[in-house]
This record gives sequence, structure tokens and C-alpha cells, in this order.
Amino acid sequence: MARYTGPVCRLCRYLEEKLMLKGEKCATSKCPLERRNSRPGRPGGRASAQRRKISLHGLQLHEKQKVRFSYGVLERQFRRFFSEAAKLPGATGENLLILLERRLDNVVYRLGFADSRAQARQTVQHGHILVNEHRTDIPSCIVRSGDVIEWQEASKKTEYYQRLVEKIRGKVTPGWLSLDEEKMTGRILTLPDKDGIDAKFDGKTIVEYYSR
Ligand code: SF4
Repeated sequence: MARYTGPVCRLCRYLEEKLMLKGEKCATSKCPLERRNSRPGRPGGRASAQRRKISLHGLQLHEKQKVRFSYGVLERQFRRFFSEAAKLPGATGENLLILLERRLDNVVYRLGFADSRAQARQTVQHGHILVNEHRTDIPSCIVRSGDVIEWQEASKKTEYYQRLVEKIRGKVTPGWLSLDEEKMTGRILTLPDKDGIDAKFDGKTIVEYYSR
């Protein structure tokens, strides 16, 4: 399945939830969900009818899509993450969310090196990021405790980087990450645990979805 390239706000409207996919715009009144809370499609049409009646399977699918869209992961890759999570000790749902948090593009986003995960993915793919001094252009790369994330020297000359240095001051990162604003370097202090994952996601419901 190809990556969705349509308007991302449509995904939020489809799920009727703010998925924060567009960076700064999401926190402003320009967010379409602040202005109209309707699903895409004809008003009063099939989409509106679906809204009134949602099955258990529909709820489980909703939760799975919410997480998948938020992390910008394709279905096939998401299933692969799920299989990996199932092999690990502990609750599969939590393992899945922890694995997604450990993706390099998510870490770049959490450190404030990008406004959104989509922008972080592009930043990684364009080779701007080093992991332990090695250029790494694979957004799905899983970080480990002690890894150091920094910018490639040549990328520090870009206008984007110069603006970022100003913007990143005072950035609050999750407890499992540390950010050196002066050096623009991030470090994985420890692996995220269930307290370090986003409380708005319900991993258990995703497990139920795949266990049908
Ligand atoms: Fe979603 Fe952000 Fe678009 Fe609002 S602005 S609909 S939160 S992507």
C-alpha cells in the first residue's frame, strides 16, 4: 500500500481527533478541527450516519488507525511492528507503542528537531541526522539506550537549522531523552516505558483488533 499523500487534516477529520500531524498549525485556530468537527464527505451523508453507529470492530479499527496515522506508518510496516512487539516479554500493546516511540523519526520529532513526525521523517531521509556519529537515513531505525542523535556538520549551514537553533530554546523533552540545546545533540537516557508513551493511545485495543 502506498503512503497517503492527500491532505493530512483529512485524517484527523476522518477520525474526529486532533492527531497533531501539521506541527505548529495544530495548536492554532487554523486547525480545521477547531473550526468544524465533521467527518470528510457530504454533510448528512454516509459519513455522518457512520458516526452515529460504530461497532466494537469499528472502535478497534479507529484506535489502530489513530496510532498508525500519528506515527506515519504504513499498514504493512505497522503489522511488522506488531509482530515484533508480540515476541517481546510483557504486554504486546505497550511493547508496540514503545517500539513506535523508539523510531528514529519519532525521536527527532520529540527532541524538537522537527515540527511534526512527517517533517522528522524527511529530515532523516535527507541524511541530515547522525546516530552515534554515523549518517542514518532510515526513519524506522530503532534507537537504543545511550545513542547520541546529532546533526550532520554540512546540514548546520542550512537556513532550516539556523532557525531551529533559535526556536528550540526551552524545548521540553520526554524524561527518557536529554537535549543539549547548545550542541543541538540529543541522547537516549533510557528506553521509554509505559509511562513514557502517549496516554491518548490504547495499545490493548489494537491487540484486540489484530486478535479477531
Ligand atoms: Fe489535525 Fe493538525 Fe490538521 Fe488540526 S491542523 S486537523 S490537528 S493535522
